[in-house]
Order: sequence, then structure tokens, then C-alpha cells
Amino acid sequence: MKIPFVDLKSQYLSIQPAIDEAIKSVITDTAFIGGKYVNEFKNEFQSAYGARHCVPVANGTDAIYISMKMLNIGPGDEVITTASSWISTSETISQTGAKPVFVDIDPKYYTLNHELLEKAITPRTKAIIPVHLYGQMCDIEAIKSICEKHGLHLIEDCAQSHFSELNGVKAGLTGITSTFSFYPGKNLGAYGDAGCILTNDDSLAEKMTMYANHGALKKHEHFIEGINSRLDGLQAAILTAKLPYINEWTDARISHASSYDNKLRGVGDLKLPVVRPGSKHSFHLYVIKTSLRDKLKKYLGQNGVETAIHYPVALPLMEAYKYLGYSKEDFPVASAHQDEILSLPMYPELDDDKITFISDTIKSFYEANLAG
Ligand SMILES: *Cc1c(COP(=O)(O)O)cnc(C)c1O
Repeated sequence: MKIPFVDLKSQYLSIQPAIDEAIKSVITDTAFIGGKYVNEFKNEFQSAYGARHCVPVANGTDAIYISMKMLNIGPGDEVITTASSWISTSETISQTGAKPVFVDIDPKYYTLNHELLEKAITPRTKAIIPVHLYGQMCDIEAIKSICEKHGLHLIEDCAQSHFSELNGVKAGLTGITSTFSFYPGKNLGAYGDAGCILTNDDSLAEKMTMYANHGALKKHEHFIEGINSRLDGLQAAILTAKLPYINEWTDARISHASSYDNKLRGVGDLKLPVVRPGSKHSFHLYVIKTSLRDKLKKYLGQNGVETAIHYPVALPLMEAYKYLGYSKEDFPVASAHQDEILSLPMYPELDDDKITFISDTIKSFYEANLAG
């Protein structure tokens, strides 16, 4: 058996007529930039969330940058984020001219450890960007209270947490803005780059909409200088075609996660994902931990199971942030985490035979390893 880490082809085949029709309509209507398909997705996504505004943008990275830029974050400011994420979360802070400040992760849930936040806040701090990592929500209520106490903006990076929930509130409805990526491998994925921002703030929504489109709301009426960060019609139409399936797909991920849990509990030295009480984890990734990570990854690969690491180097320890002068001791949890994590195949179209095969392969690894 050969099991890929993600399988975008089988998802396409499962809804092929709807996708093909969506693509054909955009081309027939030549609605490539802006227009009805982008508006339709904007309306569908904001109503699926119950948010006042959805601002479609070109990708999830721009969504974070545009949020900060329109909140007037820039040179001289500091923005706090988590030590464990994709680099978009921190590189966008630097893009505004502000300084990224990293906080270690929680040892149990792997999201930003809010208990360390207040120590990182200075008079220059303007915002906090927590990431709902792997589909697991942060303790967003606790983070919100800290933001309110210190007068900081809260921007939720929801690139990995489409329709995750905590205490019945969806990820993305607590911050002043929340940012989504529709990169093909994300839980809701386009067929290219795509993203959006949710907000309930009318004037901020208008500013972000302008900024993403050269500072204009109407052609040739540029109120400010902006950037070109538009969601295109093809991606919008594909996303609208996929949106009706998102709950079904999320439920499938949750069910696969529980199959993995059942089959892998107690195996070797494995640490399985722990779901925060009261939350709906959308399992963008199913991440296990083991002290034998590199050996296990190699063994799985030799047996046809593709895995990945999210992420092999914690952000503050990357070459890009060497100038900040951090060391491993500054982030004891994130730096141990990076060496032990392994992401197993996870996508809605995975089935129990594959999960059994993967789990059995992992068991045989430990048997061989203990024997040897
Ligand atoms: C994917 C991702 C992004 C960036 O999204 P793109 O659409 O690829 O620009 C931002 N933050 C996190 C946590 C991500 O996983």
C-alpha cells in the first residue's frame, strides 16, 4: 500500500461535476478578477461564519499583513506571536516594519502559551497573533482578556482552523480580524493561492478591502496607496463549490483522528494529540510525538506511508531570526517539540483500511525497535 500525506485528487474526483462547472462558468463569463464569483464566495463564507464582513484576498499571508497594516501597526511597534507556526505569521509582522516577539507554546495543546504572554508585553506592543495550530484552538478567551487589559489588537491566524470551535464559538470570531488561507492543502482549499479576512468592524473592513485593491473601492478612485492582493474569480468559484462540503469533510477528519487514537493509544512512546476540553478540533493535521521521530519517519517512508513535520524548526530558532539572538533555552517547549513531532496522513478521503495499515506499520516499527 502507498499512502500519500494528502490526496487532493480524490477530493476533486468526489465533486468533479461541481468543480468543472464552476471553472467553466468563470471562463464563459470572463469574470477573472472581482465580479460575481468573488462576491458570491465572500457572501457565502461570511454567512457560514455569521461574521459581518469577509474581505477576500490573494492568500493567507497577505490576510495577516493587511490586517496589521490597516490597524496602523508599523515601525517601532512590537507584535507577539507563537514560537511554533508557519513563517507567514511572523514574516508579516516584519513586513509592516514592526518587530516580531515570540512566546513559547503550551506543552499539552501546542498553541501559544497565554500564561507567558504578559511577560512579553512592553509599552511598544500593539497586537497579539495567536495561531489555532493544527486545527486546535488556542485558549482564545484568556488571550482576549489579556488583549483587553493591555489595549492590544487580537488577530486570529485561522489558516489551519476552518470551522474549529471553542465553547461553541468558531475560530475567527473573537479577534478584531481573523485571517484564513485557502492554500490547496488547507481544510478548505482552492486550486491555487487564496485567502480572506473576517471582521465585524465596518470601517476596518472597508479599509482592508481598499488596501487589497490598490487603495480603491471604485476603479480609478484611489483613497490611499495599496497593494494588489485580490482573490481571483476561478479560486472564488472553486471555493464556493467546495464550501457546502466543509462540515462533512471536517467530521471525516475528526473521525479519522479518533480511529488513529484508538489504534495508536499505548503504542511505544507515542504521545497522541490532546483535544482542548469544550473544543472542536478540525484536525488540519494529526500530529504525534515520539523520541524516535526520525527513525519512525524513515520506517514509515520505506513502507509506503508519507509523513511530514510541522515544523522542523521553531520560528525563533530559524536562520531568518538569528538577528534576534534567541537560543533554544528561551523556548524550551517549542525547541523540544520540533524534534519529536510527526504529522501522519490526514485528509477527509482517508479510510479505515489506510489508517489500520499506517497504525500497524507504526506498531511493527516499535516491535522491531524494542527487539533490536
Ligand atoms: C498556510 C498558513 C499561512 C499562510 O497562508 P498562505 O495562503 O499560504 O499564504 C499562515 N499561517 C499559517 C499558520 C498557515 O498554516
